[in-house]
This record gives sequence, structure tokens and C-alpha cells, in this order.
Amino acid sequence: MIRKTYLPGATIFFEGQPADCAYIVERGQVEICAVRERTHITLATLGRGEIFGEMAVLDDGVRSAQARAVEETEVLIIRSEQLRRRIMEAEPIVGQVLSSLIKRFRQAQTGLLNDLPTRMGSGHVVVPNIADNDDDILGAGGAALDWLRREYDLERGLNAGEFIPFFQPIVTIADGALAGFEALARWRHPERNLIPPSDFIDLGERCGLIRRIDLAIIAGACRILRQSVTDGETPFLSVNLSAQHFTDFGVVDSLARILGDTGFDPAHLKVELTETALVQDPRKAHEVLTHIKALGITIALDDFGTGYSSLSYLHSFPFDVLKIDQSFVRQLGKPGRTHDIVETIITLANRMGMVVVAEGIETPDLIPPLHRLGCTFGQGYHYSRPVPECDLAALLRS
Ligand code: C2E
Ligand code: CA
Ligand code: CA
Repeated sequence: MIRKTYLPGATIFFEGQPADCAYIVERGQVEICAVRERTHITLATLGRGEIFGEMAVLDDGVRSAQARAVEETEVLIIRSEQLRRRIMEAEPIVGQVLSSLIKRFRQAQTGLLNDLPTRMGSGHVVVPNIADNDDDILGAGGAALDWLRREYDLERGLNAGEFIPFFQPIVTIADGALAGFEALARWRHPERNLIPPSDFIDLGERCGLIRRIDLAIIAGACRILRQSVTDGETPFLSVNLSAQHFTDFGVVDSLARILGDTGFDPAHLKVELTETALVQDPRKAHEVLTHIKALGITIALDDFGTGYSSLSYLHSFPFDVLKIDQSFVRQLGKPGRTHDIVETIITLANRMGMVVVAEGIETPDLIPPLHRLGCTFGQGYHYSRPVPECDLAALLRS
């Protein structure tokens, strides 16, 4: 459950209760309170955009106070693993500072709760609000509400099958003939139309849903291409794998399952990854790649020329294909050193038995130099933009 509505006076949680989630107020008002020696102590009243119940989640403790709705209140629920993931992603020092702050806050709160009734007598005590600037709270709370909404929306879209592959042709430079396709993710959102990867890949990586997105695209693309090719040679299919797949062997089983379910021939499947997948744990990444290759799938290094572009990766990992990034390709033919660098990369890759794909070919003037340099395949708007499933048949006939 993502959202919950509470009637005026309803308890959201009790003091002493174990915790498995935190909350953000989306509408209404919440009172954080405790009762000591028949004195009702209001610790805080919270409004839209404010977070509560986060302490017990972060330190695995129990609720140190009660939360109740003052008026009809709607809250968004943050699951403990969502909150913890965000904190684990930050510098380790952030987690340390948070846990020491929580410890001190709990001590101070216990002192305050025990002290107030003796000082103020029984009845109703309101602890003055030390939270300062409402704009700050709304700003930070608004941003938190926003990421949480986007994260839940992504999960909903994934469960609803809204992530679909588009297909961009990859052609033979020598004659412009269709050789394969790269599957590129699109989100067909019910309210926001077609969303490009630049608007969701990053979020998917941060909330850990990217693996499921990748697999949904791969499964969809394999199924569609398999059904679309009725006769003639099957073009190859290149798919993208996020760096997060390279920390364990889960992806190997998933790829094997997709191949089994769709009947797609692994000899026609290539997985693309960038160097970021290799830097964190190169040994594990190497093992995962070796297992993927054992399924009969080929491996492409994507975006070469951005990031690290380390030549040492080229010879220590089992790449079959090298994709040269568009920022490099565009410089071809222009005076400057980039031309020489591209030439050297293509020569080196060919010598090492790798096939080279030039990305981002937008104009025909790039084709002759790429051809002369020995580049096998090209991809770019000059040939075709990524197209939806319904346009695939026309491309296959052409
Ligand atoms: P990429 O893997 O480098 O894919 C190529 C991108 O360049 C695509 O953008 C493609 O539409 C664009 N492109 C192709 N030809 C040209 C051209 O001639 N000019 C220009 N300016 N651009 C061209 P797209 O589809 O927006 O995807 C962007 C990035 O998102 C991809 O870059 C890839 O890193 C990521 N992505 C896409 N689909 C997936 C996916 O299923 N899983 C993962 N993990 N990442 C994906
Ligand atoms: Ca790619
Ligand atoms: Ca690329």
C-alpha cells in the first residue's frame, strides 16, 4: 500500500510499536505526542511535505511517541528498504551522523518527556516548535514527496507492462544494409505519453528497479523480433544491461529464462554494457560476462570514448563488439586529434578480433571515413531513428 487516509483523531502508530515504514504527510495534519503522568504532551504538529516515523526505521527501534491525525489526513508510506537504500547510497559518514543524531534525539526526548509533567503539571503541554523556516520544510518535503511519487509510479508502470522496446537499425557501413537492431527502452505512460530513458533510467538505478526494466525490455524485444522475422536471415538484437547486473549471477539465469521462453536464438543476441559495469568489482563482472557468453550471447562494450575508455579493459574482458560513442564519431573528418584517436581505436579493435559499431551517424559525410577506417557497422538518425514495434515490419522488408 502506498497511500493511506486517516480520519480526524485516528492513531497512525502507538508509542512502543515496532516500525516497518515512515510517512510523508500529503494532506492534513499529524500530531506527534506522548502521555506521561496524565499529561498529554504535543511534541510536534506536522503538515504537508513533512516526514515522520523515520527514526525507528533507521535505528530499528520502536516508536518513541504516538502519531495521530488531527484532521482528515493522507500520508504516503515509505517502506523501510526504500529509506535505507537512499541512505546507503550516500557517503557512509551520512549514515553515521544520522545514527548518532537519532541516538541523541532519543535521549533528549526521553529526558524531556519525563521532565515536562513535573515542571508543567498535569494537563496538556505543547513543546514549542523549534522548526524554523516553513519554506525549507516545504522545499525539502516537496522534493521527498516527489521522488517517492516517481518511484512508486515507476514500480506501478513496470507492473502494468508500460515499459516497451523501440528498435533502432544497425546497418553495414559498406552498403547500408540492415544488420541488426538495438532495443531502446521507452515508457508508455498513461498520462505523460512516451517517456525517453533520460527521464527514468537514473531513477530506476537509484531505486533498484533498473534490473527489472532491463529484463522487461529484453524479453519484449526478443519476443517481438522473433515474431516479426518470418523469413530470411534474422537480424541481430543488441540490448542494454545496467551496471547493477554485474554484482551477482542473477542476470545469467534471467537471460537463459528469456531465451527459453521466447525461443530467441542466443547467437543473434548481444548485450551492451558500459565501463561503469566493470569498475566496481572487475573480477565478478568478468565472471558474469563469461557466464553470459557461455549461453551463446555476444558482448558489446557501449559508449567507448566517454567515461574511462581504458584500453586495459579491452584486452582483459571478453568483448566481441566495440561501440564508439557519438561524441567521437562526430569529430571524424574534422581537423584535430580525435580523428587519429578514432582511427587507432578501430585498428586496435579489429586487430583484437572485435567488430566496431559507430554510433550517432547523423550525416552521410561520416560514412566514407568510417568505411576507410574499417568500421563494420553504423547506427544513427541518418539511417533511422528508433521505431516502435508497428514500424518494424517495414524496416525488415526494406
Ligand atoms: P545508448 O545505449 O548509447 O543508446 C543510443 C542512444 O543514442 C539512444 O538514445 C538513441 O536514440 C540515440 N541515438 C541514436 N542515433 C543517434 C543520432 O544519430 N544522434 C543522436 N543525437 N542520438 C542518437 P535513447 O533511446 O534516448 O537512450 C539513451 C540511453 O538510455 C541509452 O544510450 C542507454 O544508455 C539508456 N537506455 C536505453 N534503453 C535502455 C535499457 O533498456 N536499459 C538500460 N539499462 N539503459 C537503457
Ligand atoms: Ca546501448
Ligand atoms: Ca551507446
